[in-house]
Amino acid sequence: MKIRVLGCSGGVGGPDRHTTALAVDDDILIDCGTGVGALSIEEMLAIDHIFLTHAHFDHVALLPMLIDSVAERRSRPVSVYALPETLAALHAHVFNWVLWPDFTVLPEALNPVLKLQPLRVGELFSFGGRQIQVLPAAHSVPAVGYCMAQNGSSLAFSGDTTLCEELLDALNAMPALRYLLIETAFPEAMHAKAEISRHLCPSKLGEFLSRLKTSPEVFITHLKPLCEVQASREISMLESVLPIQMLLAGEVFEV
Ligand SMILES: [Zn+2]
Ligand SMILES: [Zn+2]
Repeated sequence: MKIRVLGCSGGVGGPDRHTTALAVDDDILIDCGTGVGALSIEEMLAIDHIFLTHAHFDHVALLPMLIDSVAERRSRPVSVYALPETLAALHAHVFNWVLWPDFTVLPEALNPVLKLQPLRVGELFSFGGRQIQVLPAAHSVPAVGYCMAQNGSSLAFSGDTTLCEELLDALNAMPALRYLLIETAFPEAMHAKAEISRHLCPSKLGEFLSRLKTSPEVFITHLKPLCEVQASREISMLESVLPIQMLLAGEVFEV
């Protein structure tokens, strides 16, 4: 199972900065931020399943465009999996005939290109030998993370979250966790903003990692563009026994 980082910034700006999207092999996406713009039309046509962490725009921005771009040539729907609240927000505010057509009834109501599939925390999806487990998260809107696993090896992605006890419990139950992609959005000076928006800042990240009982390689995602330098410096000074690196677009993980 190959996981390719298409976008991992908390914002946009320049060719290397795109918002959250991960490609799992050729057929699955985790989130649909502006990183999806890196896919060719043929690569977009191959996407059968899209798992969303939550409804925020930086994680769904290119979903309407992707669906529109492939609609004419797909005979099967693209399944979009998310919490019921996330799907309801997308249907009410994006695919509502105002911001974008309602592709859940297009091109035909009986054979639409977009299928909304509710999921719940803890649910396990299997695609051949590949497994995707829904992880808990604690953000300003209903949100989840995901763990991708195959042959006993796994990669967990936090999505957007503040320090979340349930996520810690879930990760600590995964002895074979090889990689952890975890968010941090703001530097310490913006601690209050991180709290209000339910993101991590470096000290909270440090607390989270200190309570992990497994030993994954840690990669930081979702730094806000104007905070990258300061937050990276603060993260590099954390006293963590785990190796911590900044996640980069284009990086590929194998589990
Ligand atoms: Zn968010
Ligand atoms: Zn976000």
